[in-house]
Amino acid sequence: MFSSISEIMCIDCAGKEVSIRGWVHRTRSGGKIVFSTIRDHTGIIQVTTKKGNLPDEQFDNALKMLVESSVEITGIVKEDVRSPGGYELLVSNFNVLAFAEPYPIQKDQSEEWLREKRHLWIRSRRMMAILKIRSTLTGAIHDFFRELGYYEFTPPIFTPNACEGGSTLFEVKYYEQKVYLTQTWQLYAEAMIFSLEKIYDVSPTFRSEKSKTSRHLTEFWMAEMEAAWLTYHDVIKIAKDELKFIIRRVLERNRPDLELLEVNTAKLEAMLDKEWPTITYTEALKLLKEKSGMDVVWGKDLRTAEEEEIMKHFDTPVAVTEYPKEVMAFYKPTKEGGDAPGPVAKCFDMLAPDGGLEIVGGSERDTDINALIKALEAEGENVANYDWYLDLRRYGSVVHSGYGLGVERVLQWMLGLENIKDAIPFPRTMTRVTP
Ligand code: ATP
Ligand code: MG
Repeated sequence: MFSSISEIMCIDCAGKEVSIRGWVHRTRSGGKIVFSTIRDHTGIIQVTTKKGNLPDEQFDNALKMLVESSVEITGIVKEDVRSPGGYELLVSNFNVLAFAEPYPIQKDQSEEWLREKRHLWIRSRRMMAILKIRSTLTGAIHDFFRELGYYEFTPPIFTPNACEGGSTLFEVKYYEQKVYLTQTWQLYAEAMIFSLEKIYDVSPTFRSEKSKTSRHLTEFWMAEMEAAWLTYHDVIKIAKDELKFIIRRVLERNRPDLELLEVNTAKLEAMLDKEWPTITYTEALKLLKEKSGMDVVWGKDLRTAEEEEIMKHFDTPVAVTEYPKEVMAFYKPTKEGGDAPGPVAKCFDMLAPDGGLEIVGGSERDTDINALIKALEAEGENVANYDWYLDLRRYGSVVHSGYGLGVERVLQWMLGLENIKDAIPFPRTMTRVTP
């Protein structure tokens, strides 16, 4: 019977004989004694192997084994304040299952090398912590929506249409035709709300981003929701609640991982009790001018530097609404009235503090079939390809809204990761599709 490492690091286990299995994290020897740390998915423990306490052949193996060898070890648990975690194991049986070759990853290697060796680097304590939090995060999204009575709907990945504009589509040969990898589930989600009304997903999303940034992947996971009868203001509230739910869940379940990553948890905790503001794009420009002395021409989409500047003035995420209609995707409806200098759309982006990362984007969807046709034509799309989508306006059209939350963006923000590539196990970018 094998125990996990975290299970045996407790006062009740002190003095008892236990067996563990895992991989050698570090090892050093001083002649008749070998000090190692062993890793499994729950933690690491120091293991002390003394010649004489186990068969000689086993000791010799422990002496010569290199890091990342796989092992099974039996020993007595001992409290030891100097060990990581406060306990060590005094070995009576040491079985090396597979001797590792010299490990290509050592201290202080370049980020690029670690990405080249990603299949090995995912064993690191840092990546393990991030990936455990990622698992909590996606689980939380499922729980959040299911508790609200939403159905999970999984969209097709091969699609014949663009939704977010043609420039970021990945083309795929599909027998004799060309199709694309999905950029968003949206058009299908809009079809589905006439059936299930309230739906969500956590799905892979593909965009052939043309620039190298620290916040864009070409393959990422989007958690989307779409619901009949809701306005964009209704779903902004849901997005804020969802993010608070995620933060709360990660704080509950991943304390040791957050600590290892040196995340400022007090800052995250403080956000839970605050109201998260909603401001309009026009108000954001005013704020940029008055508080930061930055002039942005009304009508232009916000750039990264401007989003970053806006968020210097907030300590929680902020929903920025009502961007100029002109720069928005075809399906975002015009908001009538208001005092903006030009036509604006019923849409929003959620920006995060400490960097201004866009973590959520959403909108109401236009119900006016003529406006949709006009907007598609203006984008240079072949309207005939969207005929099935336009059917949704022909048969019982209702107000509906939805948004997409970038799983890796939320992780990047919450954990303060410099690059989004560390928020996904095997990142795909313009310059990397291996390993
Ligand atoms: P950006 O302006 O940052 O390119 P976007 O406006 O293209 O984002 P949306 O189409 O609104 O993004 O997509 C919804 C969410 O998906 C974004 O808020 C973001 O969290 C995430 N997202 C978008 N593109 C990427 C990407 N290339 N890599 C990772 N996440 C992304
Ligand atoms: Mg984009």
